[in-house]
Amino acid sequence: MKRNTIKQLGRSDFVNMGPIQLRQPIPTQSIDNIDPFILLHHYGPYEISVDSNPFDLGPHPHRGFEPITFLIQGEQLHRDSLGNESVVKAGDVQWTTAGRGIIHAEGPRKEFVEKGGTLEGIQLWLNLPADKKMMTPNYQHEKYEHFNVVYSNDGNVEVRIIAGALNNKFGRIQTQTAVNAFVLDLKKNGEFLLEVPKSHQSLIYLLNGNTIINDKETLELNKNQLIRFNQDGEGFSLKGKEDSKLLFLSGEPINESIATYGPYVMNTQTELLEAMRDFQMGKMGFLEPN
Ligand code: MN
Repeated sequence: MKRNTIKQLGRSDFVNMGPIQLRQPIPTQSIDNIDPFILLHHYGPYEISVDSNPFDLGPHPHRGFEPITFLIQGEQLHRDSLGNESVVKAGDVQWTTAGRGIIHAEGPRKEFVEKGGTLEGIQLWLNLPADKKMMTPNYQHEKYEHFNVVYSNDGNVEVRIIAGALNNKFGRIQTQTAVNAFVLDLKKNGEFLLEVPKSHQSLIYLLNGNTIINDKETLELNKNQLIRFNQDGEGFSLKGKEDSKLLFLSGEPINESIATYGPYVMNTQTELLEAMRDFQMGKMGFLEPN
């Protein structure tokens, strides 16, 4: 297999989002986006208690893309303007297609806050092409235990297929565009050769541990936590230097102009103004405050 070479190594520095401190590997000063992926937030691990509950997001709108949560530790309550209400647990994925507009809220349940526990997750913004930005909104919640898993030959690597396909196993999430999203758990010395479709841009992000890519680059917390690949090969190799957890993403680039403001991702400034107006007019629906 011809390996994809590495285009860029990325850090995952902390940023402040209001009162919340979280890691933001995309965008950074050197990475605008990795089309079709426009934002990646890694929040936590936070020790949640009645005195500290930083990741409790009240109702807010989105339009023009797909906000996705991969919950790593803890649990969150999701509510939205379509009437969905669900408890998302560690390993679950929620995939929201904002389309022309949705309002949602998420945060730990009261019971979780009172009992205390660790909360950690990934929030990903996946862009939608122009002809799908105004589609009917949709919400998918899939549980950890329902995802298909591909194992390495040595049995020391588990690849959970969230969306897309690998070795003829398919993700349970229905996608709007050609994307792969996998969560990988590597034991120390576990090895895997991951195939990447030639038409996809791809990246791998380290959540914890320490992993060697293509026998040379090491993904390390607080150093190189993200690798962006060139579209010049058929895949890449991973080897756990320690027990590690990683997120792999790949997708066909959309190659359209991007205009963003706050919670909206459109093609033009005019469309952003329309989004703000439509939200004010209640056209994205309603959701009771927490
Ligand atoms: Mn949101």
